[in-house]
Amino acid sequence: MGLGIGLLGFQTTIAHSVTLSGTGVHSGAEVAITFHPAEADSGIVFQRVVGEQTISEFKAVSSQVGNTDLCTILGFSPATSIATIEHVMAAIYALGLDNLLIEVQGAEMPIMDGSSAPFIEAIEQTGIKALSVKRRYIRILKPVRIESGASWSEFTPYDGMRFEVEIDFDSPLIGRQAWKGDITPSVFKTELSRARTFGFMRDVERMWAAGRGLGSSLENSVVIADDNTVINMEGLRYKDEFVRHKTLDAVGDLALAGAPFIGCYRSYRGGHKMNANALKALMSDPTAYEIVENAPQRQRPAPREVIAVSAP
Ligand SMILES: [Zn+2]
Repeated sequence: MGLGIGLLGFQTTIAHSVTLSGTGVHSGAEVAITFHPAEADSGIVFQRVVGEQTISEFKAVSSQVGNTDLCTILGFSPATSIATIEHVMAAIYALGLDNLLIEVQGAEMPIMDGSSAPFIEAIEQTGIKALSVKRRYIRILKPVRIESGASWSEFTPYDGMRFEVEIDFDSPLIGRQAWKGDITPSVFKTELSRARTFGFMRDVERMWAAGRGLGSSLENSVVIADDNTVINMEGLRYKDEFVRHKTLDAVGDLALAGAPFIGCYRSYRGGHKMNANALKALMSDPTAYEIVENAPQRQRPAPREVIAVSAP
């Protein structure tokens, strides 16, 4: 199973603070974020900061999610909330980071290149450090399924952390695409992390007219023209980049479980809202999961996945 280092059984954080800056996709404003190491059992915490002053703080768990219409937002008031956390959370979850303080100078995460790759690079640059407290996992015990029109998603028991994501777009360029796999740091990094967010030109224009998506550009999105061609000169990073990005989004959304899950998450024509609702459905049924300290033996990572870890 994935979460490589986490499978040693101990919680993790980063070795040193690291700062990233870029454009906020919704506001178009410049934003800077700094990842700081954090103590065991503190979880992933976002702080919105103006100058030296902290104006809000949220633990990255599903109960703190206010809105999921265009992106995933922590908090319930625009004055204090923190938006577009999903690509950062995907990187954190896939690398097996349990504890982190993320200081945000701004109202949203920088969109960077529209993928998780820049966040992975930043975290790998500083390094991951094991802490001396055991990690807890959410093990799925029985199927939990939600449906909405033609869309559905479900958790099922599985010895690992698996994603099976399928999309079906009414666009010949995208059409039906599926990605299936067990999430490990290396699988996430090579197969999913570089997949960019995407949109149709007509929707981008509508968003701009409504004063949203002001920071969105060909530098951070794959844009599809009305004739179903990719506008970006460089083309696609993967032939099926679209479903890979949807899987990346799902990893980031499920990171709000607050702990790695042991199970399979399947979704068909899903999105942020459906991922959030599936997680809510799981959490509201205490008979559907259990909290365990040890991942099953056979889920231990191969030694090569442990090399980058420094001892506590
Ligand atoms: Zn996304």
